[in-house]
Amino acid sequence: MFNTIIANNLKQFRNSRGWSLARAADETGVSKAMLGQIERGESSPTMATLWKITQGFQIPMSVVLEPPRDNSQSVEHQSKKQLSFDENIQFRVLFAFDPLLRCEMFAHQLAPGKTHLSSSHERGVIEDIIVIEGALEIKLTDQWQLLQAGETLRFKADQDHGYRNSSAERTIFHNVIHYPKTIADH
Ligand code: MN
Repeated sequence: MFNTIIANNLKQFRNSRGWSLARAADETGVSKAMLGQIERGESSPTMATLWKITQGFQIPMSVVLEPPRDNSQSVEHQSKKQLSFDENIQFRVLFAFDPLLRCEMFAHQLAPGKTHLSSSHERGVIEDIIVIEGALEIKLTDQWQLLQAGETLRFKADQDHGYRNSSAERTIFHNVIHYPKTIADH
């Protein structure tokens, strides 16, 4: 089902920009073949690929994961469905991107021993981390720093960064992504 939502969203973003697959590949750094597979719903993109796509299209991450929004709703409720695009990190949307607040919020889960590395997000993006359960290490400027449950970290995410669970227990953390005004609303 999520493959279908992502497939439809990607096609719509590409069409609204009038981009060929080749142009979209240039802008995102994701191969034409892979973009075609995702658009046909044949492939589940990894989280790293999703970030490349949303960065290339200059849209927030949650926008590509969401079915078309019903703007008449004044409240937002997300189901507890866990999304798993690769084996290293699982996540779900807690709040989809809101153009007024310019942020979105995810819950992430890292199994013991797992690492997720992220390349730089769009210029000006800021991330908040709130560790809910277990211990989390965050990599910034090539140094890992350890956060325990209840601890928080806010950092500039327009640089390479990483998330790691070196413990023997699972790690759950919340992640708010703040977008600058320069990014498209949709
Ligand atoms: Mn990130």
